[in-house]
Amino acid sequence: MEIRWLGHSAFEIISDDNVKILIDPFISNNPACQVPVEDLNPDIILLTHGHSDHFGDALEISNNTNAPIACIHEISLFLAKQGIRNISVNIGGSFIFRNIKFTMLEAKHSSDIDIVEEIVPGGSAASFLITFEDGTKIFHAGDTGLFSDMKTIIGEIYKPDLALVPIGDKFTMGPFEAALASMWLNPKAVIPMHYNTFPPIEQDPAIFANFVSQFNPNIDVVVMNPDEYFEFNPENYQD
Ligand code: ZN
Repeated sequence: MEIRWLGHSAFEIISDDNVKILIDPFISNNPACQVPVEDLNPDIILLTHGHSDHFGDALEISNNTNAPIACIHEISLFLAKQGIRNISVNIGGSFIFRNIKFTMLEAKHSSDIDIVEEIVPGGSAASFLITFEDGTKIFHAGDTGLFSDMKTIIGEIYKPDLALVPIGDKFTMGPFEAALASMWLNPKAVIPMHYNTFPPIEQDPAIFANFVSQFNPNIDVVVMNPDEYFEFNPENYQD
């Protein structure tokens, strides 16, 4: 499958069957993203939480493409009120879409919907585990601090092959915590995200990569540039 980083926490994942999954589509106001909103044509949109740097252009993209937005119950109520197609899910639960399984898991963060003038409560912040037909699992951590269930629940039970983790600090984990999270999640490869979009979250991903190699040298750190594609195949990594 192909992973395309759109900057910040926005990713497009294209499955081998050409199902396009768009996660946290912060596009038009994202200083790191040069892709026009009209160029995105997802089959499904995932929202980890309601903050504007994740919610982004979800409404417009869903309106343009009719792609449903999968999100936590409270955000789905907000979407339903506006006639937006949505899939309501909650932490620990899964649903199947086009033969792909989506599981909502925990994140330690807040989640008001701040894209509207009057802020609306957005339930809990969340993360997503995506399980493809061939068994490959990709974990998008959303915005989060470090928490021990990354090891005991997500790492040991769900076993992601690829993890996308925030390293920007200030609003999420920084490089050190994100490297510990990577060790606990124990994927074959990890992609850092949520950094260098704005000055408060400036980070050198090499510092993150260094910590990861100290904690577990078997994890491949894939540092991407915005709008770059990465072909992920878990068979390319040894157990
Ligand atoms: Zn946030």
